[in-house]
Amino acid sequence: TKDLIQVKNLKKYFKVGRKSILKAVDGVSFNIRKGETIGLVGESGCGKTTCGRTVMGLYSATGGEVVFDGINVHKLKGKEKKDFTRRAQIIFQDPYASLNPRMTVGDIIASGIDIHNLYTGKERMDRIYELLNLVGLNKEHASRFPHEFSGGQRQRIGIARALAMEPEFIVCDEPISALDVSIQAQIVNLLIRLQYEYGLTYLFIAHDLSMVKHISDRVGVMYLGHIVELTSSDGLYKKPLHPYTQALLSAIPEPDPNTARSTKRIELEGEVPSPINPKSGCRFASRCRYAKPECYEITPELKEIENDHFTACHLFNDVK
Ligand code: SF4
Repeated sequence: TKDLIQVKNLKKYFKVGRKSILKAVDGVSFNIRKGETIGLVGESGCGKTTCGRTVMGLYSATGGEVVFDGINVHKLKGKEKKDFTRRAQIIFQDPYASLNPRMTVGDIIASGIDIHNLYTGKERMDRIYELLNLVGLNKEHASRFPHEFSGGQRQRIGIARALAMEPEFIVCDEPISALDVSIQAQIVNLLIRLQYEYGLTYLFIAHDLSMVKHISDRVGVMYLGHIVELTSSDGLYKKPLHPYTQALLSAIPEPDPNTARSTKRIELEGEVPSPINPKSGCRFASRCRYAKPECYEITPELKEIENDHFTACHLFNDVK
């Protein structure tokens, strides 16, 4: 399948004070095929949300580029820019914070329709009703306000607002993290159904690995601004290669006793170190139980260890 998105050596740095630089995303490369879901996981502070927003063009890039269907997202102007803001949408973690409390749900859903002048009058109302229906809400909800809805329903409203633009690509920025576990599955299932119906492509950002497994075709694991492992969802869960991925996965319950994964919990000591002025070498070295002297000196490159299974770790230096 053709790539819809190519992320090439993407960097996003923020200045902190006079001398410090926070390297939130520091040289990240991956592609997203048309109709595919890429999961992006890691603890908070690993750069996944900044990565998603830079891919969307909401942040300018410090370096590298994002190519969407052949066009550079960070160099868009005029009509091309308007077109991209329709074709690519984002769903946020906290649907309540992202829904204007003074607007009715119908007007919220139609906000993009209005900006882009897609429909007016009766057609606009019909489209709102259709969108409500698509996400499991109904006509009567159009005249209500966000505070009258539960967290899961508010996320459905956020999804309807994104869908209104008939997008091809949606960045799902931790869309389920703030929801109860029982509701999480409903939202994930809704996203999967919509993807199937509309051929959507997703970048699905989450810190919880168990849900990501169900929705993602491939998963990228981020640590301190780097992707440290990238492979198929199955490959990652059955045979994680990077010590960080192994530790992350060991923390979630093992549902399938036939997988090769060790069920022993690997303790991850300490917090993610600060991404401000990061040291050279492997960024995971301070928490890695396999760290050797070269790990503190040389930054490991993301390389293909097995077919379509990439990792950045010196333990695999000898593997061709
Ligand atoms: Fe651990 Fe070294 Fe691999 Fe980094 S490169 S994950 S410190 S073994």
